[in-house]
Amino acid sequence: MEKAILIRFGEIFLKGKNKYVFENLLSHNILQALKEYKLRLTKISGRYIVTEYEDFYETEIMEKISHVFGVHSISPCFVVKTLKQNIEDCIKGIKIDTDTFKVDVKRADKFFPIQSTEFAAMMGGVILDSQPNLKVNLRNPETTVFIEIREDGNTYIYSSIIKAVGGMPVGSSGGGLLLLSGGIDSPVAGYLMSKRGMPIQAIHFHSFPYTSELAKDKVITLAKIISEYTGNIKIHIVPFTKIQEAIHKNCRPEFMITLMRRIMMRISERIAKQNNLKAIITGECLAQVASQTIESMTVTNAVIEDLPVLRPLIAMDKEDIIEISKKINTYETSILPYEDCCTVFLPEHPVIKPRMDKVLKEEIRLNVEELIAEAMANIEVVETNEE
Ligand code: ATP
Ligand code: MG
Repeated sequence: MEKAILIRFGEIFLKGKNKYVFENLLSHNILQALKEYKLRLTKISGRYIVTEYEDFYETEIMEKISHVFGVHSISPCFVVKTLKQNIEDCIKGIKIDTDTFKVDVKRADKFFPIQSTEFAAMMGGVILDSQPNLKVNLRNPETTVFIEIREDGNTYIYSSIIKAVGGMPVGSSGGGLLLLSGGIDSPVAGYLMSKRGMPIQAIHFHSFPYTSELAKDKVITLAKIISEYTGNIKIHIVPFTKIQEAIHKNCRPEFMITLMRRIMMRISERIAKQNNLKAIITGECLAQVASQTIESMTVTNAVIEDLPVLRPLIAMDKEDIIEISKKINTYETSILPYEDCCTVFLPEHPVIKPRMDKVLKEEIRLNVEELIAEAMANIEVVETNEE
């Protein structure tokens, strides 16, 4: 009898070549998440199974596996060679701490001589012999003991199914560049895209010395937290101060945010292309703040040449975004009070519905290409797996 962790993924939707790509990526990502542990990962029809790990680390390992995108549920289990006696010995040792239970047998190995329902009843009897206070409830049991008799000659026995993060394995889509601020929204946006299989890099615009080094560290911390799900994140930190000063000096204050955003978008598209990324991701949400009207988005989006701008939070309520940020552990960091570059030179009355002709009239006063070139020449790159 050996302890093991059974890993399930949602492969039912996948067929043919896609299925192999999906499975290879998933096993690669699981091993990557578990690289600090000694263990073995094997594939059994439609599942993965982790064995040969140190019992002491089981909880930690399960936690890490349940964060890998593409994993839908896991079960700690016992594995025995498929023999009636072995299964029975294992079942005797199972402690059930609820009042009611049932046994569920899946017999994929048709060489096993006893039929599923008959065997379930026999094993239910074994459990009742050792724990006579329990009651069988076939309709609505509090605990179900699963016995899976598989084609590989092994039987897997478990009584809990733990829901994992779900989604698609990172790498099953082309990559995206996440505009990462220190706020609540953008880390959630990155998490959600990555959950659909998109590997991400991040770009952050930093206004040192108007914003402190702490603001930059906060963004790196946020990237590290989400990298637990996404895998390593390369962060491009772009000095933004000169650009903001130039806008402040030359343009009408109410257009500050719009003009800043247009330059952020232009730089982002260039960095995305240099890094072979196929999309830009923002944490924008319709009507959340003045700069997030549809008119504003139209004017900032207009500078993008040909990459899609993905806004996974566009239709979400703030409470729902906060709920995800708490779940993925970014919330406490996001609410630390360091200023974001967008709060520097913030005008009292920003235009809420900017008109393109007016924006262009302001923007023409800037040497946009020169400002972009200088900022891009001074980018600092940090990776979350450094140190
Ligand atoms: P967040 O909570 O993500 O900071 P927000 O509600 O503060 O968003 P805005 O300030 O309008 O909204 O920012 C909208 C989006 O623009 C952010 O979600 C992020 O994707 C991007 N963004 C804003 N500031 C920066 C920055 N300094 N560096 C990189 N991206 C930024
Ligand atoms: Mg913000």
